[in-house]
Amino acid sequence: MAVYSHSRLESFESCPLKYKFRYVDGIKKAEQGVEAFLGGVVHEVLRKLYDDLQLEKLNTLDELLEMFSARWKQLWGPQVRIVRAGMTEQNYFDAGKKCIRNFYESNRPFRQSQTLGTEVHLTFPLDTEGKYQVQGYVDRIARRPDGIIEIHDYKTGRTLPPQQKADADRQLALYQIGIERQWPDTRGVELVWHYVACRETLRSRRTPQQLVQLRQQTIELIQSIERTRQFEGRKSALCDWCEFKPECPLWRHPDSVLALPPAQFKADDGVRLADEFARVKHERDALDRRLEQLKEQVIAFARQQNLQVIQGSGQQLSVRHSEWEKFPGKHDELRAALETVLKKAGKWEEVSELDAAALAHALEKANWPADLVAEVRRFASITARDSVTPHRDGKGPGEENS
Ligand code: SF4
Repeated sequence: MAVYSHSRLESFESCPLKYKFRYVDGIKKAEQGVEAFLGGVVHEVLRKLYDDLQLEKLNTLDELLEMFSARWKQLWGPQVRIVRAGMTEQNYFDAGKKCIRNFYESNRPFRQSQTLGTEVHLTFPLDTEGKYQVQGYVDRIARRPDGIIEIHDYKTGRTLPPQQKADADRQLALYQIGIERQWPDTRGVELVWHYVACRETLRSRRTPQQLVQLRQQTIELIQSIERTRQFEGRKSALCDWCEFKPECPLWRHPDSVLALPPAQFKADDGVRLADEFARVKHERDALDRRLEQLKEQVIAFARQQNLQVIQGSGQQLSVRHSEWEKFPGKHDELRAALETVLKKAGKWEEVSELDAAALAHALEKANWPADLVAEVRRFASITARDSVTPHRDGKGPGEENS
């Protein structure tokens, strides 16, 4: 049975194809974006800070920064990818140090709550039968002096989201469900996000009704994932950070040919097909537009000259103008009134329960009383259509008569 984490659910929501690569095909990539790498090292250092505090050791800021530098150097390698143009490893290294400094300075002396665990692995069901399982790692769980349990999460992204986003966040609210299951007597839970790059903290609470709703929504999302057979790619700005971009069918060809020298680019089979298809389509669209203009001119000419056939060189154009009565359709508001008129006149069966063609035929041929025909016709609107059809006839100047 699959166990769903918040990132697994989020991966499906942002791009079902990425979800398939990662969780259905099980493709693992050593490659890592620099943002995730930075986040990982910051998380390790903050974990160490609270783990040591549980053993009554308070690290100084300098010690933590040293730890950060050492761990960065130890883990950095060619697998770390910098996407943003003009940025270097040093920029991200400095940004990571700033995150540690910000957190340290705004949370010292770190005794506001008692740490119950760091990187705590939670696994819990969303339903009573245990069919829908969720798991996650909580950065830090702590208990405040007033008994409230805090679920802490460290965020190293550059942007501070609005409070509404925190109030609607799924990840920590899911963890709350797991924690309340683990400690049913807890006096309350608060969700806390440390935006360490911005030196800001967001807090949020959930009502029991909100958690019930979250369970239901998450179960429905899991059901929709499990029903999915066609995992479509969803292009977005996040594609540049996707580890599966090299094999993604939405990007593989463009990325491979755009890097080629011009001559090789033009010789590529895919490029040639794409160019020719686009050119022919463009020409056909232009011809369709020209044909429509000509049709209008032919119809205007035929009308002005009162003609139904126009002679060309070896072909004729038949120009037809047709008009017919259209009666209210099933969803038309006049339909019920027309039905009443026909039923009252005893003609309902005769027109096959108001089949438009049967009704038109009855009006023409069935010898209905003139006042009934007039009454029914009040419901009709006139629809008209002009058509132009070419026929070869071989009678143009210089052509043999056939
Ligand atoms: S590159 Fe974009 S579209 Fe392709 S799998 Fe990744 S996120 Fe989806």
